[in-house]
Amino acid sequence: MQLKVLGSSGSRAPGFHASCLLINQRLLLDAGTVSFALSLEDQARIDDVLLTHAHLDHMVDLAFLADNMLGMRTQPIRVWAPEPVLNMVREHLLNNEVWPDFTQLPSREKPVLQYCPLPAFGPVEIAGLQVSWRQTNHPVYTVGYLFETDEVAFLYSGDTCDTEEIWQLGRNCDKLRCAFIETSFPNRLADLAVRSGHMTPAMLEKQLAKLDRDEVPVYIFHMKQQYLDELQRELEQLPHSQLTVLGGGEIYEI
Ligand SMILES: [Zn+2]
Ligand SMILES: [Zn+2]
Repeated sequence: MQLKVLGSSGSRAPGFHASCLLINQRLLLDAGTVSFALSLEDQARIDDVLLTHAHLDHMVDLAFLADNMLGMRTQPIRVWAPEPVLNMVREHLLNNEVWPDFTQLPSREKPVLQYCPLPAFGPVEIAGLQVSWRQTNHPVYTVGYLFETDEVAFLYSGDTCDTEEIWQLGRNCDKLRCAFIETSFPNRLADLAVRSGHMTPAMLEKQLAKLDRDEVPVYIFHMKQQYLDELQRELEQLPHSQLTVLGGGEIYEI
């Protein structure tokens, strides 16, 4: 499985792109950074988009991907997420006010986007992968995902504060090869982290104990870049030896 980090930041600034992972060149996990990172031809290869939640930094480029794909594809891009997340996209982004409803364009019969609500219980198969999910601890409805093939698997936390079920999913998966976990704020801003549903390095350490898979590489994303130096120093002091702070652009083969 190929994993390409298109964006790993908790916000946007020159050189810092919002969270977005491209899997096997055709499944996009969150849509924070598509139009900056991929050529139109590479954008046209994306058949499926899977969203963790509907905060702007995770869905904003769905708007530009849809616009860019007018006339570029013959089949709609399937947009997968739990029903509450798709409802927020429908009501607040692609609502024919903020941006067009691309499930009706260029025509109702051949639209650019097609919504695919996840069932109440998984797993489901998306882009040839078995996908499972658990709700995380964030102010809006948010899930983290586990992706599996017959041989390998990886975990993606989504945005979250202290949580349980997603770590249980990863802990019980024998073929887990890596985990992408958010950490947004330095330890001195723990109050802000809790109130906004994010993690500090100290909170991350507690989650890693729950995941209990010390042999698995952990890739940190969603850092707020104004605190990046401080975050990096605090993350380096954690006992987990396989921790990498993502910068964007990394490609992993698992
Ligand atoms: Zn969020
Ligand atoms: Zn976010």
